[in-house]
Amino acid sequence: MNKHDSERIAGMLEALGAYSVETIEDADIVVFMTCCVREAADTRLYGQVASMKNIPLRDNTPLKKRIIAVGGCIGQRDGDKLVEELPHLDIVFGTHNLASLPQLLTETLEQGGHHVEVKDSSQSFPTDLPTNREHDWAAWLPITIGCNNFCTYCIVPYVRGREKSRTLEDIAEEAQRYVDAGVKEITLLGQNVNSYGRDLYGEPRFADVLRTVNDTGIARLRFATSHPKDLTDEVISLFGELSSLMPALHLPVQSGSNRILDAMNRRYTKEHYLELVRKLREVNPDIALSTDIIVGFPGETEEDFMETYNLVKEVGYTQVFTFIYSKREGTPAATMEDDTPREVIQERFDRLVELVQEQAYQANQADLNKTIDVLVEGASKRDEKLICAKSPKNVTVHAPLPEGVSIDELVGTIIPVHVDEAKTWYLSGQVVGS
Ligand code: SAH
Ligand code: SF4
Repeated sequence: MNKHDSERIAGMLEALGAYSVETIEDADIVVFMTCCVREAADTRLYGQVASMKNIPLRDNTPLKKRIIAVGGCIGQRDGDKLVEELPHLDIVFGTHNLASLPQLLTETLEQGGHHVEVKDSSQSFPTDLPTNREHDWAAWLPITIGCNNFCTYCIVPYVRGREKSRTLEDIAEEAQRYVDAGVKEITLLGQNVNSYGRDLYGEPRFADVLRTVNDTGIARLRFATSHPKDLTDEVISLFGELSSLMPALHLPVQSGSNRILDAMNRRYTKEHYLELVRKLREVNPDIALSTDIIVGFPGETEEDFMETYNLVKEVGYTQVFTFIYSKREGTPAATMEDDTPREVIQERFDRLVELVQEQAYQANQADLNKTIDVLVEGASKRDEKLICAKSPKNVTVHAPLPEGVSIDELVGTIIPVHVDEAKTWYLSGQVVGS
């Protein structure tokens, strides 16, 4: 969601006549799009903005001072506090008023001083902002904003507000525009896409979104994130029906212990989650599953952790995003007793990461010696003769650039690659016919 918001910021600034530069030293305007889901990102923002004081302005700039803005979740949460602590900061805006940035920027350029605008909520879904997409061939498409779930560890509902869905017509129109412009892959976005439409239509209609976007003729369709408590049989069955729906699902489990899941307010059990996995594999035995896990939630015992460990072992994920629990002020979990020593949590985390790596390696073997269609993203950063692409399961694929073909011709196209090596984090092979 932050990447998408950043593309909108870039779009709005370009509409004002700005252009993007490679380094912070060359920038007259710097906008930090922030995340406060975990403490590390929070601390980094304060440090990074503070260090901006030491970076001189480029020669020939029309500005007397570099304009620094902070937006997104930290802007929403901290508002005026940010300019009190970081007086060289010019602009703060929140998650509900991205569209105010051009106005705030104009005021800053004309009047100087601090300009802070944070709203409690937004009336409408911000659909019409200009967007400068990072890649011509891929687009993020938000279908909901906000979250109503209030998992006890999570700050998102407090900084992104209540869940708001966009109309089906609006989504269809944007998706069709992308397809007509040559976009190959659309990723639908929402904190919990499965509850899409509850606020608009009185019932979730995520399956209708998937069908509608599939009908636009998009080549590849993905979505994030899916909450296990709201994943329906209808949506599961679409993995066997819709040609564009990629065989990959991110289904965050967070913990394998029912006691911890209850304390997290996740509102499903380990058994329910495993049943979803069974149904998904019934529809497509080759589906790639990924997940998020929090290690060290308050009160997590070795027994609780082992339930998580064993669940990961049982499911066999292609990728697991592992996080050490980070206390977020204002959330219910912040007041829960939390006396597990840091070293114990770190040791559990390390054990889990080791298992995750073994599993990713195992999961990737399923594509060994197969020919798969990959979407070319560009040349590898380390070797310009190597294509970097994504498999249907969203795994990185490398292949030598065929003789006589330039990478620019291939970027954004879908080509067949025969996989002859499967490692932990990538596959490699040969472009078929090269
Ligand atoms: N809406 C998405 C995830 C949003 S945050 C979902 O429900 O799946 C992304 C991930 O960050 C979460 O899945 C969770 O694993 C992690 N996370 C959120 N709050 C956290 C915290 N306080 N400490 C550690 N990890 C956290
Ligand atoms: Fe946070 Fe839970 Fe909402 Fe995801 S579903 S954003 S983890 S509160």
